[in-house]
Amino acid sequence: MSPILRFAPSPNGRLHLGHAYSALLNDAVAHRLGGIWLLRIEDIDLVRATPENIAGIEEDLAWLGLSWPQPVRRQSGHMAEYLAGAERLRRAGLLYPCGCSRSEIAATVAAWESKTGGRWPRDPDGTPLYPGTCRNLPRAGRESLLAAGGRVAWRIDMAAASAAAGPVSWRGFDPDGRDWSVAARPERWGDLVLVRKETPTSYNLSVVLDDAAQGVTHVVRGVDLEAATDIHALLGRLFDLPRPLYHHHALLTDEGGRKLSKSRSSVSLAALRAAGESPEDIRRRLGFG
Ligand code: GLU
Repeated sequence: MSPILRFAPSPNGRLHLGHAYSALLNDAVAHRLGGIWLLRIEDIDLVRATPENIAGIEEDLAWLGLSWPQPVRRQSGHMAEYLAGAERLRRAGLLYPCGCSRSEIAATVAAWESKTGGRWPRDPDGTPLYPGTCRNLPRAGRESLLAAGGRVAWRIDMAAASAAAGPVSWRGFDPDGRDWSVAARPERWGDLVLVRKETPTSYNLSVVLDDAAQGVTHVVRGVDLEAATDIHALLGRLFDLPRPLYHHHALLTDEGGRKLSKSRSSVSLAALRAAGESPEDIRRRLGFG
């Protein structure tokens, strides 16, 4: 089976140098492995994902000299698949509805911290773990939450999901083809939202279903997503999907050592191009010269 990679940006702004690095690395690794890479547009955030940003991604990548097979998968066109995935987990009793707002959760955590002087546990991204308020709702409370007609999120019951899946692991690889096993610890994420209030999916749910739907064999992405791979391994096991291998690359930083971000428009490819940089300059700068 020929290797399939993917570059999967979220069109929440213009691409920056960090995206260019990731796209060029996907291209280089695909060549090295004798495979291809696909472009996937992760546009589930229907407010921030604008047509201009989507067009901008394709324009910037083509300007860099990259090409990819058509059609390009856009997540916004696959919501029914994500809903079906969520329904499977719901039927297995692994999701529960949650009406808590971010500020209610923050208030619960702050009250606990000030009362005990302790630090509430955080997930690998630094977000306080969900306190479990709605997991513990009696059946009637859950029913009235759903009957109220307001929008609810659906959270994974991490303890139940981990028990159903048993121990999970994923495989890391380096571009030379060596691979190894990594034990996953998805429980450090707590009861994550898998179906958001404002969109019928989440990054974690969509990415697992899409990688499988597109036959992705090798994932090359930033190390900022390495801890989330534990969730992807858990969901992959629960859905009984074939699992890709993962290579997490270091993130580019600016001169001050800060992670590059879309909001810092000074490093967008469009801005560099407007300032007269050529695709060759960018490739050389990123070590692909
Ligand atoms: N859409 C994600 C992002 O732009 C990347 C997803 C992935 O590579 O798994 O950060």
